[in-house]
Amino acid sequence: MRKFNFCAGPAALPEPVLRQAQEELLDWQGMGCSVMEISHRSPEFVAVAEQSEQDLRDLLHIPDNYKVLFLQGGATAQFSAIPMNLFGAGSKKADFIHTGQWAEKAIKEAERYGEVNIVASAEDRNFSYAPAADSWQESADAAYFHYTPNETIGGVEFPYIPEVKSPLVADMSSTILSQPIPVEKFGFIYAGAQKNIGPSGIAVGIVREDLLDRALPEIPRSLSWKIAADGQSMDNTPPTFAWYLSGLVFKWLKAQGGVNAMAELSLKKSGLLYGFLDRSAFFSSPVAKDSRSRMNVPFVLADDKLDKQFLQESEEAGLLNLKGHRSVGGMRASLYNAVPLEAVEALVAFMADFEQRHG
Ligand code: PLP
Repeated sequence: MRKFNFCAGPAALPEPVLRQAQEELLDWQGMGCSVMEISHRSPEFVAVAEQSEQDLRDLLHIPDNYKVLFLQGGATAQFSAIPMNLFGAGSKKADFIHTGQWAEKAIKEAERYGEVNIVASAEDRNFSYAPAADSWQESADAAYFHYTPNETIGGVEFPYIPEVKSPLVADMSSTILSQPIPVEKFGFIYAGAQKNIGPSGIAVGIVREDLLDRALPEIPRSLSWKIAADGQSMDNTPPTFAWYLSGLVFKWLKAQGGVNAMAELSLKKSGLLYGFLDRSAFFSSPVAKDSRSRMNVPFVLADDKLDKQFLQESEEAGLLNLKGHRSVGGMRASLYNAVPLEAVEALVAFMADFEQRHG
């Protein structure tokens, strides 16, 4: 029996997708073997790759002057790939908004290759908010401007898209495909797959074509966006099964009504949970109201001595993976696209009952 899974990542996948993969596992398209047992250069797999790209383009309305890349090494490899792909055309400086642990990892990598200017930081209030647009000033000569639209650990989401002069780079690992995005405002968008796209092992990059010739000469070929773009993301063997499964998720998303439907659903799901947290005298959200994430909802109990019991009882109730990130403690419910509204309804009912018994 499948349970309601609130894992931050690798996260729940849509059940129909898993069923289809299960059905096709031994004999894919009548070939007598699985999709992960054929050449990535075979016409059959190339068709999977091309279709998944097209579906992603349709879902996000990606303009023609952007390349879609299916990359390896997760979002973490991109923390290094970004400066190496963008610091080779003069400026070796980048602007960053520092909003928490994921932004910090991107900052640390960029510092290895050039100069980092932190234009705004939310450290003063324990990374519990997204700094306002009028609180920072960008550099005149930055090679790019990086931010993290959704901090998965802190549960902080930007309520706006920065308007900047340099190419805007966004780590959308935990928010991609949950709402429409104006791709044309960005130079580079990247996301590890294991939240809203598919299994871990693959990452998506969306890069504006004019940024493909700015790499440092010493860039490793496995991190080069240009080589990935020129070789249809197959310069070396890609993670074919993860790619195939991501393609099934894109199809599933289209059948659900695409990102508009996901945005509506995620507002409902997160609204239900935040509404409960705000009414509760026992549970609370540590995040500023205007920066609350629709994807990752951290919350704390009034008495942290009950944390263990909460986790044990919730698991017994079929509500999985509610433990907060090991670095911050407390709880976190991740509400990615594959988490149905019923899961949040069950969670809120469980929390109300827990509060009544222990509050
Ligand atoms: N960026 C964000 C916002 C994340 O949530 C994560 C992982 O949870 C990462 C980057 C790292 O992704 P990966 O594990 O694919 O390298």
